[in-house]
Amino acid sequence: MTASILDGKAIAQRLRAQFRDQVAALAARGQRPGLAVVLVGENPASQVYVRNKVAACEEAGMFSENIVLPASTDPARVIERIEALNRDPRIHGILVQLPLPRQYDEAAVLAAVSAQKDVDGFHTENVGALALGNPRFIPCTPKGVMVLLQSAGIQSRGSDAVIVGRSNIVGRPMARLLLTADATVTVCHSRTRDLASHTRRADILVAAVGRPAMITADMVKPGAVVIDVGINRLANGKLCGDVDFASVRAVASWITPVPGGVGPMTIAMLLANTIEAAQQAAEQSERFLGD
Ligand code: NDP
Repeated sequence: MTASILDGKAIAQRLRAQFRDQVAALAARGQRPGLAVVLVGENPASQVYVRNKVAACEEAGMFSENIVLPASTDPARVIERIEALNRDPRIHGILVQLPLPRQYDEAAVLAAVSAQKDVDGFHTENVGALALGNPRFIPCTPKGVMVLLQSAGIQSRGSDAVIVGRSNIVGRPMARLLLTADATVTVCHSRTRDLASHTRRADILVAAVGRPAMITADMVKPGAVVIDVGINRLANGKLCGDVDFASVRAVASWITPVPGGVGPMTIAMLLANTIEAAQQAAEQSERFLGD
């Protein structure tokens, strides 16, 4: 068997064309969707991610504000900037690029973002809403994975889904989404005993660890759908995922490439969440005017 490619790049491009129309319609209602990206420090990978996100916003016709602060910035000043963005009517979504410099209390900074503008879905209120099965903003990467699965007509209902990784950004929200979609979900992590015994049972296998090519063909059930969230930079400068693509492709039914799989979907979902936030703001202000 040779797995078909789940082409995140192509699907994201199609979505972004639709977003341009939605943005134009909202702009005509006086709510051009606006995203603020806050970057603290000089992490080169974060700089690339932020550039890509801002470029995607501009391409969709959205308003964007890029706030770059040195790593030495007093955390209280960063929180003040976020609070100003919470009040700014041009901004519907606020994203704090992670990781923050070491001396920062990440949870405190994320808590400063208004839950109504938390397009990353990291605010406790939004995490809680997702856990209760009634989400407002769904974290972009797992949301992108669900859209990829749906776009290929892959059924989650009744499937055995195994997620490797339990971070708040990927693994945990991924588990909640798959559970809500009626999969039977197993979450593995660094303390899991005999990882392969779990992964081999998966109809849908999601790898979100950050270890190059750790999922090998012998760990994959024939015909499984394999989603590779990992992004690892090799010594030769190339990017690779957590899945050993060449060998696993010979076993799986569907597989995402790295790059060009989950990454472009993450950015597309950030735009989708920001458009959703602007939509909610438009409805709220129209209700207010109608009162
Ligand atoms: P984290 O480092 O926060 O989490 C990694 C997870 O992997 C942890 O839960 C950890 O377990 C688990 N883990 C580590 N080693 C093993 C092992 N040997 N066996 C099983 N599990 C293990 O990473 P993130 O979730 O933030 O990111 C994961 C990967 O996804 C990274 O490569 C990152 O760059 C990429 N990424 C890609 C995105 C995209 O758009 N494509 C977006 C976000 C991330 P424990 O909890 O026990 O420590």
